[in-house]
Amino acid sequence: MEIVVMFYMVLFGLIMGSFYNVVGMRLPKGESAVSPGSKCPKCGHRLKAGELVPVLSYIFLRGRCKSCGERVSPLYPVMELITGGLFLLSYIQFGWSAEFLVSLLFVSLLVIITVSDLTSFLILNKVLVFFFVPLLFLRLTFAAPDPWWLSIAGMLTGFGILFIIAFLSKGGMGGGDVKLYAVIGVVLGFPIVVVSIFIASLIGAIAGLAGMFFFGKTRKSLIPFGPSIAAGSLIVYFYGAEMWMWYSSLF
Ligand SMILES: [Zn+2]
Repeated sequence: MEIVVMFYMVLFGLIMGSFYNVVGMRLPKGESAVSPGSKCPKCGHRLKAGELVPVLSYIFLRGRCKSCGERVSPLYPVMELITGGLFLLSYIQFGWSAEFLVSLLFVSLLVIITVSDLTSFLILNKVLVFFFVPLLFLRLTFAAPDPWWLSIAGMLTGFGILFIIAFLSKGGMGGGDVKLYAVIGVVLGFPIVVVSIFIASLIGAIAGLAGMFFFGKTRKSLIPFGPSIAAGSLIVYFYGAEMWMWYSSLF
């Protein structure tokens, strides 16, 4: 029966991922996330129920709007698949527990942030606050670390280090990234949050070099850090303990 539960986890993730795409792309433009229904940004063609099925509709329509043939961004199916995969991973790692809830919230926050940062270079306060409140609550109650203050220490450390980086980079890193790291710090706790900053910086540097190499972006052009931060903190969240054990075994 476990396989059936896993199947539903992926399905749940695909559906939520398709909703997070809409939230991440619309909220920065000041549009409502829930109404009216999804439409093609070029011709305004309203998507019918059948065209809203995650991933499959993208494949069947070969990535184009049914009405005008405009290319649909591959970001949609990619983020849907990532959300489906991460929901499944959350269930495999944590089962039915309070940490499973933390995991779903954390994944959801980072998917929305990735979409909004990639499409409009924005990490919205209302998105951060929406997830910060339940995550802090869970970290102080049902999913508290031992000792309990490690999540508060993680929050202050994440915010503090990013604040210094933002200050030194003179605007290279936005205020949204700094506030995002306070939320990440609550979830990861101290000292794991520090490891995630290293991993995120590494991913950011590789992405930046790839951007310069493949897209001719100059070092001055705006690079969204949100996706690198999301990737780095998820790797550490799911595999931090294993990474730490491997690292300590070297000595
Ligand atoms: Zn269209």
